[in-house]
Amino acid sequence: MSVAALQLPANLALSSLSAPRQDFIRSLPKAELHAHLNGCIPLRCLQELYRERAASSTSPLPEDDVIKKGLDLLERGAMLNDINDFFVIFPKTIYALTSNIPAISRATSAVLESFLSPGVTAPEDPPQCAYLELRTTPRRTPTRREYLCAVLDEVEKYAASQAALIVSVDRRMAMEDLDECVDLAIVLKQEGRRVVGLDVCGDPSQGDMATFAPALNRAKASGLALTLHIAEIPEYPTSDVAALLSTRPARLGHATFLDPEAQELVRRDKTVIEICLSSNLLCNSTTSLDAHHIQYYLEHDHPIAISTDDTLVFRNTLAGEYALLLAQPPLGLGLSEAEVARVAAMSMDARFL
Ligand code: 5GP
Repeated sequence: MSVAALQLPANLALSSLSAPRQDFIRSLPKAELHAHLNGCIPLRCLQELYRERAASSTSPLPEDDVIKKGLDLLERGAMLNDINDFFVIFPKTIYALTSNIPAISRATSAVLESFLSPGVTAPEDPPQCAYLELRTTPRRTPTRREYLCAVLDEVEKYAASQAALIVSVDRRMAMEDLDECVDLAIVLKQEGRRVVGLDVCGDPSQGDMATFAPALNRAKASGLALTLHIAEIPEYPTSDVAALLSTRPARLGHATFLDPEAQELVRRDKTVIEICLSSNLLCNSTTSLDAHHIQYYLEHDHPIAISTDDTLVFRNTLAGEYALLLAQPPLGLGLSEAEVARVAAMSMDARFL
């Protein structure tokens, strides 16, 4: 099924716009600052990896049936009840197919191309964005260093003005794994590799962020900018909010359920909020665009960065996310072209270059 045929909010918003308004969105210089590598692999690339592994006698697939079902689900457009449904998609389907260095290199190359090459969705389209900060959690494939170097080798084929890497750590990590990942990010940066930041991601119901704060401060002291997933679920602990905000991050991912006090702090520090509208709508973190926390930040003229999050799972594009700003209600927020251009400029200003 083509992406355009899926009745998803961003597709509906984009197709409601006239051709000149779609062109306006596509031609705006914008930065994609919140994109997870394994969540953004083009479906065709993942299907090819599956077919090749299925046909290979030397590296047969574990749980072939489960992977096939996962791929079918991704093709149909994953139906999620909530954010918990989202996290189970990764280990059994996606990671099973990106479990060696050649596969990681191919997947990374395909993700970069999908964002930075022209003509990906239609021959006349410009690249989805002018600049991409891709993020990924280092896996032991076969070592974390080899995994990150394979990703960096692909990222560094593009100019520094076009692409950079953020190293993610996962809330479920044990302390020794967290320290290993943070040390690795610092060392790679010191070796001159294009690592610009550190992210905390993973299941928001797991982990204790007070125990993560020292490692995050260490990364920051070594020159890595921080972007932290925060308050993605209603029951998110206030102690985690306090621990993460104590590191004074440059950007926050989602920040869906911050209370008014935390919102005040974010505004005081001018912390950029990475807004992923489709992700929030499809994970049912928000009931509608009207109820979305983007409204608060727009009202206060606070810096935001519109991003896709996981294009493989949500089947969205950056143009579609911007269409959710420009389209008339109820499909979009009904912003003017000048307002949308200002939002795009905010994303360029928020780069960790
Ligand atoms: P990877 O880091 O393996 O390249 O990208 C996939 C991983 O990113 C997932 O396993 C998950 O840990 C993380 N991730 C992707 N999207 C989200 C999100 O919306 N929220 C959080 N907290 N983590 C996410």
